[in-house]
This record gives sequence, structure tokens and C-alpha cells, in this order.
Amino acid sequence: MAAPESVLAVNRLAASYGKVAALKSASLRVGAGEAVALLGANGSGKTTLLRTLCGFLPPAGGEVRLDGVAITGLPPHKIFALGIVQVSQGRDLFGSLSVLDNLRLGAARRRRPGPELAEVFDYFPQLRERQRQLVYTLSGGEQQMVALARALMSAPKILLLDEPSGGLAPRLVAEIGRIVNALKEKGATMLLVEQNLKLAAMVADRFYILRDGETVAEGDAAVLQADHKAFAHAYYL
Ligand code: ATP
Repeated sequence: MAAPESVLAVNRLAASYGKVAALKSASLRVGAGEAVALLGANGSGKTTLLRTLCGFLPPAGGEVRLDGVAITGLPPHKIFALGIVQVSQGRDLFGSLSVLDNLRLGAARRRRPGPELAEVFDYFPQLRERQRQLVYTLSGGEQQMVALARALMSAPKILLLDEPSGGLAPRLVAEIGRIVNALKEKGATMLLVEQNLKLAAMVADRFYILRDGETVAEGDAAVLQADHKAFAHAYYL
């Protein structure tokens, strides 16, 4: 049987900040319904890869394909419209608007049929209760959830999650893990940058390791689930 077409295929992608070649040769694939973890030490190029995938940084080489179609070098709004949607720790929310308005804005920008508000609130019961509250008055963890909920409202083909555990207490990290797993059960496709190996082990099917801007290893997340400390040691994370 032929391998199913990847939703996202990245081949030898490179990107620079001026003379700093932050991404040299990153390659990965994410299949439909898969959650793939992108791991690597600080400064290895994970965030740069996400920024390049979203079109915020122009690629200096390599190729990106979405559902088999080359999209390398397209501007951010086109990439978003095609369905690559980044969730970045609640930093880009509209703080002076309510939870509901932020979610409606997510829906307003979508180009495909997507979920209803009620369906998205089912993943985030505490947001349903706080839907009239202004976003800047929410806790960091709640804002993270609004960011994820808003991304879902925009009907993504693939979600790029940038450190969803960032700055959260362990209880909330576990909660994010449960939500990501619930999304997976519904068939969501995700690429997840994560420093927290426990969370990566909880949600990922496969992993890639980035070192100095290059993909140096990949594998089944079972290795990570078995012993994440040994895993970190093996890959010098
Ligand atoms: P972390 O886990 O610490 O977030 P990362 O793997 O996401 O790290 P990047 O943020 O992608 O790593 O950084 C990769 C390299 O690019 C680093 O050497 C970093 O110093 C450099 N870099 C990142 N942003 C810029 C920038 N705006 N200008 C110049 N260099 C940058």
C-alpha cells in the first residue's frame, strides 16, 4: 500500500536572520491525524522553523509542501488561509476583547467550514464559563487555552503548537496534554514544539530532533514514553 500523502512535508528547509543561519537543513513530515513533536536544545532552531513555516521568515532554501502542493515562500496570510495555523502561548490574543470575541475572530478568518463555538467550548469547559470575560483578566493558562480554542475556530489543516507548556504549572500542563489528546482523537493534525518531554511523551506519535538548525534524528514516540530522562540524555537535550 502506498504511504498516505503527508499533510505537511518539509525538505531541507533553511532560513537566516541576516548572517545567522539559524535553520540549515530541517526535514520532517506530519501525516493526517498525527501529532509530531519537534524537540531540541535551546537555540537549535525550533521556533525559527515554525516562523518559517508560517511565512514570517523567508526560506533561504528547501521546500515546504501542504497536502502535496509546494507552498514555499508564500506570505503569512496565504499560508494561514491554506490552513497552517500557529498557536503561540496566548501572546497574540486581543486582551481587551472577551473570550467569545476572540473566538469569533478566529472563525471570521477561516476559509473552510469549521467547528461551531459549542463544539470548541466542549474541549474547554472553563472557557465556556468565562466567555464574557476580557482576555487580559484571565490567567496565563486560560489565555493559552483561548489561543488554542481560537486556532481551532479558524479550521486549521495543521496546528503548529509553540511550547504549549511554556510557563504553566504542572497541573495545567497535564490539562493541556488532555486537551491535545482529545483533539487528536477527533483527527486533528499537529506539530508541537516542546521542551517539556513529559508533555511531548503524553501526546506525540513521533518525534524529530533538531540540532544546530538540522534534523539529526527521528523516531517513534514510544522511545520517549519509555524513559524520557534516558531519551534526553541520549539526544543531549
Ligand atoms: P528555544 O528552545 O530556546 O526557544 P529554539 O530551538 O526555538 O530555542 P530559535 O529561537 O529558533 O531556537 O533560535 C535558533 C538560533 O537563531 C539561535 O542561535 C538564536 O540565537 C538565533 N536567533 C533567533 N532569533 C533571532 C533573531 N531575531 N535575530 C538573530 N538571531 C536569532
